Amino acid sequence: MLSADNVKKKAKALGADIVSIGSIDRWEGAPRQMDPRQIMPEARSVIAMGFRVMRGSLRGVEEGTFFSNYSSMGYGGLNWLYMPMVSINLAKHIEDRGFEAVPYGHLSPWRAINNDGSLRDRSRPAGHGKAAPDVMVHLRIAAFLCGLGEIGFSKIFLTPQFGPRQRIGILITEAEFEPDPIYDGLQLCDRCLECVKACPIGAFDPQKTVKVNLAGREVEWMDLDLAACAMAFRGAQIDDDVDEEDSYVNHAGHRTRPGWWSPFKKKPGNIYTHGQAICGARGCMRACMINLEERGVVENQFEKPFRRRKPWSVDWTAEPPESEDPVKDWTPQSENIK
Ligand code: SF4
Ligand code: SF4
Repeated sequence: MLSADNVKKKAKALGADIVSIGSIDRWEGAPRQMDPRQIMPEARSVIAMGFRVMRGSLRGVEEGTFFSNYSSMGYGGLNWLYMPMVSINLAKHIEDRGFEAVPYGHLSPWRAINNDGSLRDRSRPAGHGKAAPDVMVHLRIAAFLCGLGEIGFSKIFLTPQFGPRQRIGILITEAEFEPDPIYDGLQLCDRCLECVKACPIGAFDPQKTVKVNLAGREVEWMDLDLAACAMAFRGAQIDDDVDEEDSYVNHAGHRTRPGWWSPFKKKPGNIYTHGQAICGARGCMRACMINLEERGVVENQFEKPFRRRKPWSVDWTAEPPESEDPVKDWTPQSENIK
């Protein structure tokens, strides 16, 4: 029988780490461009799933030696590979029982609106009362409305299982399920502002906040300078005085140079469209995770603390340290492989 319990068990068996269900009435008053009913007018339920970012995927970033794993296995690979497999298979499970299901996953590149909510000039509504395509359901808000956890002061989604360490995917369906309550457990965000202190570009403004009413609850997060974050996330900072030769030009025409939080001269290529997480979410993910783990409010506990050494930074004005163990002095095992 298709029940909330059955569908949650199935989602977990398929690979979701956490699952929660929200009834569609919780989207009452949602902006048209973010309303799941614009996609499926007869939708009755939204299923939110969390896919954990392995703490190990952040290890190489923390050590300053291995960044591609967070970018791919902890980010793009989860969003573009793992999550669609689970969502599609869960949608099959529901559709095999006679109810339409949209395996929404993570589709933001097609969305009709910019990060600030303004319409991009790329599409127009197909009729009166319709949103411009593509509608973008706000995934963190959806996860909140489904009861998966809370939205932290940094706007990162926090769960009692993994703190800030997950990606969110949803599925919209005409099947009606018993909804989960909106999260009312242990408060996860204690407004420690560790995310603010550790953000390399100062993207957060704790004095300027955004307040929204979600299904009768007031939720508040800090204003985030998304343009600054987008640059810093890729390891760069704007410096129009830098030599043209040494710089690379960003999409807005500014010259940039690597920041102290990036060991890369230029951003490496993307992997699964997302391979650019050079910042490694220094503030919003890693500093937050350290705070939540130290307070003992996350269920996924580890034998050793995450931070084991002084955080690194790169001095781009100094000569690079010499490698003490260059590869040329090593006899690769591959010589023995025929
Ligand atoms: S670092 Fe602190 S203030 Fe920022 S989201 Fe996490 S718990 Fe909240
Ligand atoms: S990803 Fe990095 S730059 Fe962006 S808000 Fe988080 S810590 Fe700051």
